[in-house]
Amino acid sequence: MTMGQRHMAGDRGWSSDRRGQEESKPLLERLQEMLGALPGIGPKSAERIAHHLLAASREEVFELADALRAVKEKLKRCSRCCVPTEAETCFTCLDTLRDSGLLCVVEQPRDQAAFERMGTYRGLYHILHGRLSPLEGVGPEKLTIDQLITRLRGGEIREVILATNPTLEGDGTSLYIAGLLGHMNVRITRLARGIPAGSVLEFANSQMLADAMDGRNTF
Ligand SMILES: [Zn+2]
Repeated sequence: MTMGQRHMAGDRGWSSDRRGQEESKPLLERLQEMLGALPGIGPKSAERIAHHLLAASREEVFELADALRAVKEKLKRCSRCCVPTEAETCFTCLDTLRDSGLLCVVEQPRDQAAFERMGTYRGLYHILHGRLSPLEGVGPEKLTIDQLITRLRGGEIREVILATNPTLEGDGTSLYIAGLLGHMNVRITRLARGIPAGSVLEFANSQMLADAMDGRNTF
């Protein structure tokens, strides 16, 4: 596991050091600990899921295991927007009804999903796959900023909406990208403050996201 992958796994994630220790533990305990390391799943839920899997049929559990394996083996990043996809280019990028001059830059695929649930944005996206975090060793090279610049050099994009999370690191990431794009012939906007500072996009409701998109300002 590389340092980057280790970072992506998070503090509660499955580091290779930890996995070595885990292998000597009883299977059920190991499964519960791995489930408990997933976001949003506490020890009680992990225990419940582990016992549910134990009681489920072989077919059900193997289907779940196959789906988990397929996610890592078959999904790759879209050649344009970097969203995880099975094809070379994702459905969103290939959608000719979308405004190809409008590009919304988000931190994670789940942020794009939040905008799609909003249902009123008809432009394209670019997924950064993170945000700049000097304290955690996440520099520009760990994000898809190079791909974003290459995409903008194509000349079709007229507006870039910087839609990183309204946090210290999200704001810093937008500021950094705006600096890089300053000399390009493209309008740079960012979301209005319709979303409380310190929260994250994926938990905002559709109206809050719609307000923030409507009230966006030039960076
Ligand atoms: Zn795409």
